[in-house]
Amino acid sequence: MNEHRKILSVLAHPDDESFGMGGTLAYYAQQGVEVHLICATRGEAGVVDPEFLTDHISIAQRRESELRCAAEQLGLKAVHFLDYRDSGMEGSEENQHPNAFINAPLDVVTGKIVAYIREFKPDIVLTFDPVGGYHHPDHIHIQRAATAAFQAAGDASQYPDAGAPFQPKKLYFHHFPRKFIRNAVKVMKLFGKDATKFGRNKDIDLEMLAGDKDYPAHVHINYSSVKNLKETASECHASQYNFGSQSPLLFRLAGKLATGKDTFMQAAPPVPDNFRINDLFAGL
Ligand SMILES: [Zn+2]
Repeated sequence: MNEHRKILSVLAHPDDESFGMGGTLAYYAQQGVEVHLICATRGEAGVVDPEFLTDHISIAQRRESELRCAAEQLGLKAVHFLDYRDSGMEGSEENQHPNAFINAPLDVVTGKIVAYIREFKPDIVLTFDPVGGYHHPDHIHIQRAATAAFQAAGDASQYPDAGAPFQPKKLYFHHFPRKFIRNAVKVMKLFGKDATKFGRNKDIDLEMLAGDKDYPAHVHINYSSVKNLKETASECHASQYNFGSQSPLLFRLAGKLATGKDTFMQAAPPVPDNFRINDLFAGL
């Protein structure tokens, strides 16, 4: 029943899909839904050990090939790069690069996504929540552009050179429930780890996130049937998932704590906070 259904996921860096909503993408791809991914950058600002850069390949090349590997594991039909440069975390030197994604005007980025939506004609568009999951400036920028593109794609008067109007039916924001993050902070403290510097690039402040407001969890997707695909996709991102100072035990524990569930807020059309569904296509 899902053969002609389509999902477009709009994210910022190679590994965003596997770290975030990858389970959901694989779950629908397995059901015959055509899933495409737009990735704004090639993750050039990520820290990569020299062992991953043999044969003079660049960080961008390395991370693109890691994303293509992950996409294959997840069953994605296409990956489309917007060819911007990873802006790095807020305040980093990478922010100043002329091709840094955050320096691209929002309407230009929006126009590119509108063109892709009008060509691919997805039923559903997925992106980050308004804080970009963990306040990464690129995540926030692509979230704004994806949201604006969802709103503009069906309007013939907007971006008239970007193809014939097409309106996707629903827009969802992927969101990590704050309860999950608060639990992660507790576990990290138990292991004597600094929860303000989480992840390979130490750029995720879990303590700050734990105090953020929650967005409504309108959609609960149980992807436990394809959890293994999310894990193998994550392994493709070897240059990023070598957590260095984070102990392997902690990493394994985090994997066990991962629930096999994703939660999304339905951003459009609007619904009340207590709205609950278990399928992105519910009601379509
Ligand atoms: Zn990212």
